[in-house]
Amino acid sequence: MERIVFGVDVGGTTIKAGCFTMEGRLLEKWTIPTRTQEEGRDILPDISGLIHGKISGNTVLAGVGIGVPGPVTEAGLVLGCVNLGWDTFHLEKKFSNMLGGVPVKAGNDASLAALGEYVMGAGRGCPDMVLVTLGTGVGSGIIIDGHLVTGYNGAAGEIGHMPLVPECEDTCTCGKKGCLELAASASGIVRQANRLLAGTDTDSQLRGIKSFTAKDVFELAKKGDFLSLSVIERAMDYLASGLACTASVVNPGLFLIGGGMSGAGMFLVDMLEEKFREKAFTPCGDVKFGIASLGPDAGIYGAAAQIIQSLRNERL
Ligand SMILES: [Zn+2]
Repeated sequence: MERIVFGVDVGGTTIKAGCFTMEGRLLEKWTIPTRTQEEGRDILPDISGLIHGKISGNTVLAGVGIGVPGPVTEAGLVLGCVNLGWDTFHLEKKFSNMLGGVPVKAGNDASLAALGEYVMGAGRGCPDMVLVTLGTGVGSGIIIDGHLVTGYNGAAGEIGHMPLVPECEDTCTCGKKGCLELAASASGIVRQANRLLAGTDTDSQLRGIKSFTAKDVFELAKKGDFLSLSVIERAMDYLASGLACTASVVNPGLFLIGGGMSGAGMFLVDMLEEKFREKAFTPCGDVKFGIASLGPDAGIYGAAAQIIQSLRNERL
């Protein structure tokens, strides 16, 4: 009988799940839609059903790791996930009960993606690294001495909510004003571009694209479109400040850039790195920059790595 674990990454629109060996090798993976209606009550039964359907006669489920888009405490308590409709509850206990007592280890999705990159991706061999996730929001996962830094309430690494944009009047998804992700996220980039288009008569190819995305702004910035470039420069300037603050606190050796916006490639990374070096405290500035390599699979690798580590520790 082969012992296996599942790594699960619950997102606002899809749930990714992978079946792994106890050595962390991915055997097979699946994606199912996230049913968030009625406070997301179908989500855990859907995952449980998927897992039970995939366990065959010659395999034993040793444990499940699960990443969710919200803070998770060390004890496995979820402190609300707005995107899933979830309030505060004990995720590890509840899901373990649904699975007949199989051990469950839960974590924040951005943190687990960082663990995934460290164990199996572009962060291998770098025990002090930060994965910066740039998408609709801005998040990060922090690995120091080869261990995830999660903090008192599991909210460590939430760099998108650093109050670095005091002049911004918009309200963040967290309810506060001035958060970094208002300026540096994909939605922040689109908002700023629209603001400049409406407030100036600067010529820009963006004017010819109906409901453009951050990807369009990056593409045009690369081609030298002045307005697009100024929007991207501003976003990267704020983000570089956030990374300089992060470096002053945890002093990583590597910043990996992941999430949808990392598709902009070295254009983004080079600009960010240059601005970071201008701002960072010099002894913290000796840090490498790179692009994450596992893409959307980082979360399931990290979730699997976390439950495998937890099972190993229990055996010691
Ligand atoms: Zn915020």
